[in-house]
Order: sequence, then C-alpha cells, then structure tokens
Amino acid sequence: MAFDLPALPYAKDALEPHISANTLDFHHGKHHNTYVVNLNKLVEGTDLENASLDDIIMKTHGDASKVGIFNNAAQVWNHSFYWSSMSPNGGGAPTGAIAAKIDEDFGSYDAFVEGFKAAGATQFGSGWAWLVLENGKLKIEKTGNAHLPMTKGQTAILTMDVWEHAYYLDVQNRRPDYIATFIEKLINWEFANENLASA
Ligand code: MN
Repeated sequence: MAFDLPALPYAKDALEPHISANTLDFHHGKHHNTYVVNLNKLVEGTDLENASLDDIIMKTHGDASKVGIFNNAAQVWNHSFYWSSMSPNGGGAPTGAIAAKIDEDFGSYDAFVEGFKAAGATQFGSGWAWLVLENGKLKIEKTGNAHLPMTKGQTAILTMDVWEHAYYLDVQNRRPDYIATFIEKLINWEFANENLASA
C-alpha cells in the first residue's frame, strides 16, 4: 500500500501574491513529492509496508536505525498539514472557538502573533513553527527538521514551514517577511477550529 502525494487543497496560484505558483510548484510538486517517493521506497518490503502514516512516524521516532523513514514520513505528514494550514482568504484575527481559546491561553491575539513570529524566526536552520494543544492548553512550539508535535503527545492545530524552500523563491532570505505574510494573509483559522474541535 504505497502513499500518494495528496493534491493541494487549492489551485497552485491561489495563494498569490503572497506565495507564488512557482513556489508551490517546487514545494508541493518536488519537495513534498520527493518525501512521498522516498518513504515508499524505504518501507517497501519491511514490516512498516502496510502501516498508516501516523503509525510509521510513531514507530520510527527516536530509532537511530530508522531515521530516514522517520524523516520522510514526518515530512509527508507535515506538508499535508501545512497546505491545509493556509487558505487563499486566510490570515488576520481568528474567529470561533479558537479565538476565545487564544485569548484564554495567551492573553490576546497580539500575544499569539508575537509568540508565533518569534518561534518561526528563531528556529535555527530548517524546521517548523506550530500552534499545538497540550493538556487542554494552546502552546506555541518550534521543531527542527522533520520533528512534529505528535511524538510529544501534543495535538497539532496549525503549522508554518520555515525551511528555506518555503519562501526563498518569493522573498529570498527574508524569513520574517514570509512569517508576517503567513500570519496576516494566509492562516486558515477554519482548519484550526476543526483541529481544536476534534482534539
Ligand atoms: Mn517544506
């Protein structure tokens, strides 16, 4: 049972002018696809061949002999979650249950923005910034490389890819510009509300 590259949840040019079709062409069509292809090759003929993506991630996490499988499986998961974390008409202040929960756990939306920006900007090298739920409370996290909240018992609510391939074609080295645009124009709060509701 091989994994497939999931389709983007919107057209390739739907996030323009914030994220270009060119970036999504490479990021989804090349980077994400390569993780899928590599994962399929690595699990073929092993006892993980028929496991779910989540099972593969949980079973290989922390096992030095399976780091290649973990990295590719986690990057497949992270990218699918990232596409849904953005929306063509997203960004700005949240609505619904997540808005109230952000006020409750961070004090204000502005405090969330400050924390999320800092997490993305201070992740040294490649990685991810996350909004997660842990023990009933929202938290901002950052992870290096392919690491993700599920291995720490946290529920992912939103993610932002801060690998250079996520923004370099559009804004070159200006990661803070990409982060500001992600927050102001792209965050899919509807997706965050769905994840909060099912947590
Ligand atoms: Mn990426």
